[in-house]
Amino acid sequence: MSVPDATIFHRTLLRWYRRHARDLPWRKTHDPYAIAVSELMLQQTQVDRVIPKFHQWMKLFPTINQLAGADTKSILAAWQGLGYNRRALYLQRMAQTIVKEHDGNFPDTLEGLRSLPGIGPYTASAIASFAFHQPVPLVDTNVKRVLGRIFVGWKKLEDMAEPQIWKLATDVLPKQKKHIYDYNQSLMDFGATICTATKPKCEECPLSKQCKSYPSILQAERKQLLTKAPTETQYFGKPRRIWRGKILKLLHDRPKGKATLLQIGKSIQPDFTTDRIDWLRGVVATMEKDGLVVIKNKTVRLP
Ligand code: SF4
Repeated sequence: MSVPDATIFHRTLLRWYRRHARDLPWRKTHDPYAIAVSELMLQQTQVDRVIPKFHQWMKLFPTINQLAGADTKSILAAWQGLGYNRRALYLQRMAQTIVKEHDGNFPDTLEGLRSLPGIGPYTASAIASFAFHQPVPLVDTNVKRVLGRIFVGWKKLEDMAEPQIWKLATDVLPKQKKHIYDYNQSLMDFGATICTATKPKCEECPLSKQCKSYPSILQAERKQLLTKAPTETQYFGKPRRIWRGKILKLLHDRPKGKATLLQIGKSIQPDFTTDRIDWLRGVVATMEKDGLVVIKNKTVRLP
């Protein structure tokens, strides 16, 4: 198959997006703060779980100044349910840096955005594109998968290094600036609903004629050769992030926000025994490293 034509690809994708775009609250604003909140929440959390939390968060901390000045306890409480709580702390550090060093205004360049704490290449590009309408490509797991399958072929996708995929994303970006916002949004929706990781809907895909992976991926999927999404390591039946969430919730629920390791263990696991203390100590140590708790005199407390 020859190299897919980027113009036909854009046209087809944008046509599909006009009919199938998801109705997401952060697409109704160009406020970089709201967009940054949504992007941080969407890292590692499903869209349907993020939507109600996004609304709640924006009510509690409607501006970057309010987030910068909020106490850590209320921020972590507001994040509860999303998992990976350190993202809440990253958001606040980002807000504090913007208030302190940028007079409360988001930088509007990629370089400026990248200099903020907790903002990686993808999030910087997402804010630049969705808030400032800059003609920049985005690469996250979904985009890598979609572009890689269409332009490179799914079997070669695993061998692609990060700079190669960013180069591909840059090369196939629409030339007309006015289409780039929708194009970037459409890639997200397309990757989430059609060209999914383990069950791509190739038979109903409007891009199948251009896609380098079709129909071999269809065969692979039928034979179940596609890589399954990696599963998280389980500790006593649950991934570590769930135990971390339970510990934080417990500390929030206690009047002084603190507890001993034994109290924590017995509260989060009804069958907790002292031979699990070392495991629990390891969990809270990683939480302390992430700034979520403080360990002092054998007591774990909120910062
Ligand atoms: Fe993805 Fe299949 Fe469509 Fe190719 S044909 S873009 S692999 S859904």
